Amino acid sequence: MAEQKPEQLRAVRGMHDILPADSARWQWLEARARDLLARYGYREIRMPLVEATGLFQRSIGEVTDIVEKEMYSFEDRGGDHLSLRPEGTASCVRAAIEHGLLSQPQRLWYAGPMFRRERPQRGRYRQFHQIGVEAFGLAGPDVDLEQILLTRRLWDALGLSDLHLELNSLGDLADRVRYREDLVAYLERHRDALDDDSRRRLGTNPLRVLDSKNPQLRELIAAAPSLLDYLGSEARTHFNALCRGLERAGLEVRINPRLVRGLDYYNRTVFEWITQALGAQGTICAGGRYDGLVEQLGGRATPAMGFAMGLERLLELSAPTAEDLKDAPDLFLVAAGEQAEAQAVLVAEQVREQLPGWRLLCHCGGGSFKSQFKKADRSGARFALVLGDDELAEGQISVKPLRGDAAQERVALDDLSKYLARKAGA
Ligand code: ATP
Ligand code: MG
Repeated sequence: MAEQKPEQLRAVRGMHDILPADSARWQWLEARARDLLARYGYREIRMPLVEATGLFQRSIGEVTDIVEKEMYSFEDRGGDHLSLRPEGTASCVRAAIEHGLLSQPQRLWYAGPMFRRERPQRGRYRQFHQIGVEAFGLAGPDVDLEQILLTRRLWDALGLSDLHLELNSLGDLADRVRYREDLVAYLERHRDALDDDSRRRLGTNPLRVLDSKNPQLRELIAAAPSLLDYLGSEARTHFNALCRGLERAGLEVRINPRLVRGLDYYNRTVFEWITQALGAQGTICAGGRYDGLVEQLGGRATPAMGFAMGLERLLELSAPTAEDLKDAPDLFLVAAGEQAEAQAVLVAEQVREQLPGWRLLCHCGGGSFKSQFKKADRSGARFALVLGDDELAEGQISVKPLRGDAAQERVALDDLSKYLARKAGA
């Protein structure tokens, strides 16, 4: 009987490997973001990927897409109810409270995978990646403005265009209570036109109806009362100051009174950066103010403002140059001859000692000069370093430029860095 081949294992649907051919793009994006965040005084925090399920229920809200149907929740062997994090804000707030970070203002960021069991499609995955930013202890519209301007600067650094900013204010709690009454009355009048989800949410979390992605509800939602007409004077002042700041910074804004965001914890400022280039998955960055969340999770009342961006969607939009993505080595060391092969890795160490800024790939495993040179060429390196038994005996190394047709030259190993500096500059 023929032996049965073992079944081929595959990654979980909607969860993707990032292969070496793609990781340079990820690193480029992450490095640009990291540099920029540091320039604004944000510091990194790293939270666990798994949290108590209750944390997300209490923060994101029971009646939201995420908590109702998207979380990967499980009971562990000790009977604890845990979830893979669907977003970072809740964990970040939990960590900030737990470690007493909130006695002074904090500007924090985090990056990493998030998990939501959604229908996989372009721009929507079950494991995806975000960079998120949270500022704590800053109540004024100035930090809202700063964060939005930070995102704009990041889009510039990534070479993104064709994005627009949508902005809204959710007001304060009392404003939303008044709004909610009128919204419910309006939606009740159109109950027959609602879909099942919206009808259910009408009784539990009516603002969420505005967040519906069902195109058949678009007109109905457009004609609903506008939250902006319900802002109390404090929320109105905050919103106006932010709008003025954005205008002074030359940033064009689309006020969208239906923008409510898919999570419960927001108040006042909410915003999204949207592109037309990615079809239905057009939101690349979203956030807002969540002044009540810290207290709701057991901390001292602390104003907060943050946002998160989806890295897969950002990467789809960006076009880094070859120079941006350079992951080829600068030098490729080939060795032939018994002694040379035996010493190659050690000679490579000497070269690395001399040339800390250079990437050196040392060919391991022997083979003819010819086949090693082929690999050197294919590696994209600028120079091949050639180590034969002769060179080795004399403390030298040969340098062959792999681009152009300059001749191979032999130099003392000790002079290599000077020699290359001259050649690289030429
Ligand atoms: P959407 O409306 O597209 O479902 P969301 O409001 O659920 O987005 P947020 O929770 O605000 O998204 O997350 C911030 C960003 O993270 C989004 O703007 C998007 O760029 C990205 N994002 C969210 N969910 C996914 C996903 N399943 N796959 C890829 N990126 C995602
Ligand atoms: Mg979603």
